[in-house]
Amino acid sequence: MPRPILATIHTQALRQNLQRLRLAAPDARVWAVVKANAYGHGIERAFEGLRSADGFALLDLAEAQRVRALGWRGPILLLEGVFELRDLELCSRLDLWHTVHCDAQIDMLAAHKTTVPMRVFLKMNSGMNRLGFRPEHYRSAWSRLNALPQVDEITLMTHFSDADGPKGVQAQMATFAAITHDLPGERTLSNSAATLRHTLDAQHVAAQAQTLVASDWVRPGIATYGSAPDYPLHTAADWGLQPTMTLAAKIIATQDLSVGDTVGYGSSFVADKPMRIGVVACGYADGYPRICPTGTPVLVDGTRTRTVGRVSMDMITVDLDPVPQAQMGSVVTLWGRAANSVVLSIDEVAASAGTVGYELMCGLAQRVPVEVTD
Ligand SMILES: *Cc1c(COP(=O)(O)O)cnc(C)c1O
Repeated sequence: MPRPILATIHTQALRQNLQRLRLAAPDARVWAVVKANAYGHGIERAFEGLRSADGFALLDLAEAQRVRALGWRGPILLLEGVFELRDLELCSRLDLWHTVHCDAQIDMLAAHKTTVPMRVFLKMNSGMNRLGFRPEHYRSAWSRLNALPQVDEITLMTHFSDADGPKGVQAQMATFAAITHDLPGERTLSNSAATLRHTLDAQHVAAQAQTLVASDWVRPGIATYGSAPDYPLHTAADWGLQPTMTLAAKIIATQDLSVGDTVGYGSSFVADKPMRIGVVACGYADGYPRICPTGTPVLVDGTRTRTVGRVSMDMITVDLDPVPQAQMGSVVTLWGRAANSVVLSIDEVAASAGTVGYELMCGLAQRVPVEVTD
């Protein structure tokens, strides 16, 4: 028998989350962001749940090839654009739209031999300071691109650094608007946090700015996968998002502890009362963060309890006091949805590990078998 651990991808939840994002930006087209192998879900596994998107956004050419191999004929956008000249050949062959964020990429386009002009997304660095042309150089980049026979439509793009926090999107949006107001073409600005927090929230954004955040194309990633982009300000449930990945394993042993007994490496947990613990077939080699301290929430048979002691490579240990009926074979939900429909948000587990849901999803280990359900 294989080791009793399983990740489940919930197709219906992906569909519903996408629908939820459409409600937040009803006039926009929606990119399903599937970079990092669909945030660890697996592009092929997530595809069915995401096929109602208007396009797929990602950054790896091999991943773009996989989306085409699934039969997707619609738009695919390379969020970082190409890395070298010959990538453009693949873009032409697979009809990929690509971001242009620096002069070197314009040089590559100018050197690219194609008879079919390409659709490009010109990225402005409006404050994030990762990719993009600085505002003062944006218009000359646009003119240069626009003059190339290799270039078809130019979409105007930027990315927010603080859509999930108190700083918000105002300053970057104002910069973007000031530079681009009279340029033709579609716009794309918003990630999950901006789409959920700053599109319909008229109290925070002036009417004109609101249109800009929701404009033409939105690019939600994390919310599609059922994680709140601004946790703990809001939870996924607050946003009406459902978990799309469940990680569950079984109890493979139990131990009865006496006062003073310790658990696991480093004896970091000491029983202060007689208690029963379960040993679970999931460890850091499965993608469960080793840094999760005693007290990290888990569900045993759908009942909330906590981890005790250190996470090891292949096992964790959990407090069975709240679930006296638990035994070998009982199902432990590390994140996601239990059989009784109780949800343990990946954001809560991530917070225990001092990180975000993104990292946990993306870190699901290769050795964990994955099943796709409705
Ligand atoms: C990853 C990414 C997104 C999606 O961000 P989320 O926070 O997951 O919604 C959108 N745009 C760009 C350019 C990205 O790299």
